[in-house]
Amino acid sequence: MSLKSQSTSGGSRASFHHACPRCGSPEVRRLAVIHETGLMTAPSAETGGHERSALAKYAAPPVQRSVVWWGTLAGAAVVVALVSLARVGLGTLLAGGVAVIAAMFAFHASRYNRVVYPGLHDLWARSYMCGRCGDIFAE
Ligand SMILES: [Zn+2]
Repeated sequence: MSLKSQSTSGGSRASFHHACPRCGSPEVRRLAVIHETGLMTAPSAETGGHERSALAKYAAPPVQRSVVWWGTLAGAAVVVALVSLARVGLGTLLAGGVAVIAAMFAFHASRYNRVVYPGLHDLWARSYMCGRCGDIFAE
């Protein structure tokens, strides 16, 4: 009686086995999946519901910075500064300062969205959370 297990099935890359690097548990789930299922789960009266939605928030993807908001503020401040040029004073200085600062924020936000954000989102999409110890790790 000799049962030979079929161990040589070639390079089975499709069924890549993920395990937690900290505790070795195979109960790992993608952050994207946790986030989606958490959002779809209706908040129940049970104690589990609250924790689940909190977990979904924790597993949420990175957020892009608002370029539009800062751009709008900069534009509005420029308009105020130009209008106040009729009577140059502290208001002109303040509006000019706000315009410069808001424009800088808009510039940094747009740079963040173009340079930093794609990497963060990519890392998030490849990240898993361990169901046993809660460790988060990338693929
Ligand atoms: Zn673990």
